Amino acid sequence: MPNTSFHQETLAIHKGYTKDFQQTMSVPIYQTTAYAFENSDQAGARFALQELGNIYSRLTNPTNDVLEKRLASLEGGASGLVTSSGSAAIFYAITNLASSGDNIAVADKIYGGSANLFLHTLKNFGIEARVFSIDNPDTLEPLIDSKTKAIFFESLSNPQIAIAPIEKITAIAKKYSIVTICDNTVATPILFNPIKWGVDVVVHSLSKYASGQGSTISGGIIDREGLNDLIKENPRYPQFNTPDPSYHGLIYADVPLPIFNLRIRTALLRDIGATLSPFNAWLVLQGLETLKVRIYEHSANALKIAKFLSSHQEVLSVNYPGLPNNAYHELSKKYFKEGLCSGLVSFEIRGDLKRAKKICDSTKIFSVVVNIGDTKSLIVHPASTTHSQLNEKQLKEVGILPNTIRLSVGLENAQDLIADLSKAIEG
Ligand SMILES: *Cc1c(COP(=O)(O)O)cnc(C)c1O
Repeated sequence: MPNTSFHQETLAIHKGYTKDFQQTMSVPIYQTTAYAFENSDQAGARFALQELGNIYSRLTNPTNDVLEKRLASLEGGASGLVTSSGSAAIFYAITNLASSGDNIAVADKIYGGSANLFLHTLKNFGIEARVFSIDNPDTLEPLIDSKTKAIFFESLSNPQIAIAPIEKITAIAKKYSIVTICDNTVATPILFNPIKWGVDVVVHSLSKYASGQGSTISGGIIDREGLNDLIKENPRYPQFNTPDPSYHGLIYADVPLPIFNLRIRTALLRDIGATLSPFNAWLVLQGLETLKVRIYEHSANALKIAKFLSSHQEVLSVNYPGLPNNAYHELSKKYFKEGLCSGLVSFEIRGDLKRAKKICDSTKIFSVVVNIGDTKSLIVHPASTTHSQLNEKQLKEVGILPNTIRLSVGLENAQDLIADLSKAIEG
């Protein structure tokens, strides 16, 4: 399928697979460690990158390759690369740009695991994370200096359900020729394509809506067409513009391929090896085939539940960008397809921490789970679980109160879900 003018639903089902020699309709799981070369000359040519092809499954695998092509096409990017988790994808995207002594600018409203990676683990690697406010993007520019190598944010953030002012961020990044990385996990490529709004690199936890059934951990990285031009001869990125001693003195900027993902594959994936197993790639391929219908239904169910909660006397506030009174409502209409806002809803219940926990424990259909993006509805009390390491002041800063409850609305019947919540709240 070379034609890229197909719609996303078609690409999600067909892109990158032309049926193997057995004519299997389902993409085969190429469960192999390594690949045979025709002869030693071919082996040498592949190692020298003179010929592209499979060597070893830590680097490439035909099942993973189909998923990579599908992700790139769904995001409108140049190339895709899959990893063993979303966290690994984020780690590679950042460390492809920044090394010890460098800094990165990161949004304040992001996934807790990413905040831990940036503020603690990368700090130990000598990479400093400087935090800007997505609600006040003027805080970004003063953080930037010659050592700033990346700007990271989430399109629709987990768990705050906040929407970043994308063009303001990308405009500042362009001014300083810095690569932007957007985590598009919650919005999914169906509702939003960051690259179309000027973002350079998109990362995903495919463990969530993309695979969709809570059955695998996986991640992906998509780079944009033309990113090579931003990196080439850019003094911020010497690792792409000087000979790589670990690759026969290769200068990545001279290679006529999407070099952002190429360098992750040939250096970071090669050396650190957070490779996706082909079986897990196959699970994500199954999920992507139905992503569009699922994310529409997740969004519709979430809106119904948000409306129900808004009208409930015992609920003090509801956070869902699809509600007209939400601070991000205008941005949701501007950025997201048909104004759909995915499946996360949070609310504050009248009362204290104890009552919030009791409601979580009283639901019958919702399960107490910290995951998101499953077909099954999930409920969690952030202050005692995902955010329990924060003190009261820090909780307030990230918008979590003792009485906050977060939902990942699944694909069950909305009336059943509303009845379940209603009983738990009133019970
Ligand atoms: C879950 C999640 C991640 C981490 O992905 P894993 O696949 O769990 O490693 C990163 N970003 C966001 C927004 C997430 O929700």
